[in-house]
Amino acid sequence: FSIYFSRRSIALSILQMDKGVFLKMYDFVVVGAGFFGAVFAHEVKQTGKKVLVIEKRDHIGGNCYSYDDPETGINIHKYGPHIFHTPDKTIWTYINLFAEFNDYRHRVKTNADGKIYSLPINLATINQFFNLNLTPEEAAAFLKAKSSVVGKPANLEDKAISLIGRELYEAFIKGYTTKQWGCDPRDLPAAIINRLPVRTTDNDLYYDDDYQGIPIGGYTPIFEKLLKGVPVELKTDFFDKRDYWKSVAKQLVYTGPIDRYFNYRFGRLTWRSIRCEIEKSPLNDYQSVSIMNYADREIPYTRIIEPKHFYPNQVHSSRETVIIREYPHDDPSEPYYPVGLKADREILVNYQQAQTNERNVIFGGRLAEYKYYDMYQVIAGALQQARKQQAAESD
Ligand code: UDP
Repeated sequence: FSIYFSRRSIALSILQMDKGVFLKMYDFVVVGAGFFGAVFAHEVKQTGKKVLVIEKRDHIGGNCYSYDDPETGINIHKYGPHIFHTPDKTIWTYINLFAEFNDYRHRVKTNADGKIYSLPINLATINQFFNLNLTPEEAAAFLKAKSSVVGKPANLEDKAISLIGRELYEAFIKGYTTKQWGCDPRDLPAAIINRLPVRTTDNDLYYDDDYQGIPIGGYTPIFEKLLKGVPVELKTDFFDKRDYWKSVAKQLVYTGPIDRYFNYRFGRLTWRSIRCEIEKSPLNDYQSVSIMNYADREIPYTRIIEPKHFYPNQVHSSRETVIIREYPHDDPSEPYYPVGLKADREILVNYQQAQTNERNVIFGGRLAEYKYYDMYQVIAGALQQARKQQAAESD
């Protein structure tokens, strides 16, 4: 009997090894070193877990990656401008453990038909555009009279017109949105436009959030701190050896595009990307604001970023400035934004279902959830997942 038993357990062991049970070197293998991956890895490491991060690019930080331009010393956000803002004090306290923030407050200007206006739409924008001198109360009544959609707005265009009327929509939103998303604003979800406040006061801040700023020294040091003591394998594409990575991890944390994970089984989701064209300017100050939007459809870029202005109190050694033109385009191999067309929303339901059936895999972040998250929402999601892991363990 004992011989039979031990043979049976040896056979079992071989079977388990075959399945990789004994090769599980890591509690977590995290795919992607952006905010979701880095915060999650940091948190589980604190609780004594073995975690490895793999990243296909040659740097950490995901699309928040920043670097100092060697000639001017100006910090550049390689994948487009990132302004940290959150209404959530807990997240603000958390991120301040990893960086000191300056007191930058985001204000944007937009160039529409050759004239410069304040954005988001506020009292000054309305008065300048219509050549009026309305008071806040008059402006609110004026916008209300312009608003024309009856019923619940079903798409971005209807939503915008219900908030600001057709003229302001056509001047400031229609062209920019068409360029940014590469489609008709009537095909886009209404929620996208909720990101922009509409005000009838003199408040010209881009964000309503209580906590805002730019990390001194840029974003990359935040990731260096989060990932201190966590092994990171750069230039490592999960999809080159996905079975191997799954076999060495008790749990996988996947932060890449959701459709790619499932080999596009239910079809491809629509993503939008941007291409940044960097230029040095001999001027000390090119446009006096960090971001100038270009509302007109005919101008191929959506905005010009002058990153020097993210640090209003910093004295830069060089008199030159750097400007970055942002051109939206399609590049599914480098997705930035989930678009969320009607077809996408239908496909997404299938992927979400497949995610819930996928054992031992955690999906998180903008790409894996196909949600237009801000940085603070991604951090909150990662913290919540890390806490969930802890709670599951102590059950
Ligand atoms: N938007 C616009 N005109 C502008 C700025 C924004 O129509 O001058 C619309 C556009 O559809 C954009 C959305 O508002 O995609 C959200 O803008 P946000 O500045 O939040 O975009 P992000 O910084 O995430 O690219």
